[in-house]
Amino acid sequence: MFPRHLYVHVPFCARRCTYCDFSIAVRATVPVDAYVAAIDAELRLRFPAEQRWELDTLYLGGGTPSRLGPEGVARLLGRLQDRVALAPDAEVTLEANPDDVSVQAVSAWRSAGVNRVSLGTQSFDDRVLSWMHRTHDAARAAQAVTIVRDSGIDNISLDLIFALPTTLERSWQTDLARAVALAPQHVSLYGLTIEHATPLGRRAARGDVVEAPEERYESEFLRAHAAMADAGFDHYEVSNFARPGRRSRHNWAYWSGAAYTGIGPAAHSFDGLIRRWNVAPYERWRRLLAAGDDPVGGSEALTDANRMTEAVYLGLRTVSGLRLSDAELRSVRPWIQAGWAELAADSRVVLRAPGWLRLDALSQSLTAARSL
Ligand code: SF4
Repeated sequence: MFPRHLYVHVPFCARRCTYCDFSIAVRATVPVDAYVAAIDAELRLRFPAEQRWELDTLYLGGGTPSRLGPEGVARLLGRLQDRVALAPDAEVTLEANPDDVSVQAVSAWRSAGVNRVSLGTQSFDDRVLSWMHRTHDAARAAQAVTIVRDSGIDNISLDLIFALPTTLERSWQTDLARAVALAPQHVSLYGLTIEHATPLGRRAARGDVVEAPEERYESEFLRAHAAMADAGFDHYEVSNFARPGRRSRHNWAYWSGAAYTGIGPAAHSFDGLIRRWNVAPYERWRRLLAAGDDPVGGSEALTDANRMTEAVYLGLRTVSGLRLSDAELRSVRPWIQAGWAELAADSRVVLRAPGWLRLDALSQSLTAARSL
């Protein structure tokens, strides 16, 4: 059985955002031919030609997939569909930078099969966007939403980053209101953490920037929960909000433990038992494929203990919750009394927003109890 979910990593970015530690390749001119040829080679490695493999979800992530340009995205999707078939209602997501959105680009993406666009908006404050070293400004981001929608793709997700350093004096409430006013179907939140090997990490090491205190992280997370609920969004996963029927089906597959395949540099795959990942540097990945070699960089077989730990963590991070034994139900009673969780049907415990702020600690406590 082939997985029904495919992730394709497109590593190219115009420049590196200050906070970003993703596996990217900064290129002024994107090597579309070389990239698509390497993807083609990896597809031939992973999927036998004699069998068309049907997908429920296809996700082009990065990096910045929209940097491939309208033609490049269409060529990539065409090449993918030489090997895989999209189910009639398949969700096909493209991550896009607002700067790459134009009527012509969205029209090409749509013709190629894209039906969901995830825009890296991050903030609607130009000072903040400049501090992040984003290439776009707030007006461009708002315009991109309008263009995507008017060009016929009505499933739009916006990314927002919260818990920025206090000295920036960013108004989180204003950013939330501006995001809601653009009427997206989905919003993903990212709490800023300053990673050592990033431009921001180097500034922090010099003492030029200080991570937001935990209280700010917590208050902004809870404020987002309240604002998005008021606007009719379902907080369905710790960091994600959706209008009814507009959850990310691709990400839901990850959170529900489904098998998936990832291709491209640094992409991860999971077959239910073994997780494997490709080498991360773009040139290394490309050269291995050009030489006829497998670009896999490592793998791990999940032990029973690993699987149990993941099941607990994944269960608690979504509104599906986790089914508990009678003894476990007794042990989570204090969570319910504290307002961190609620009991749902089938003896499931489901975390609420204050509980999601304690997700790591609560899942560790349940995992420890199950390990005894
Ligand atoms: S656009 Fe995204 S992937 Fe590229 S550098 Fe910025 S945060 Fe990283």
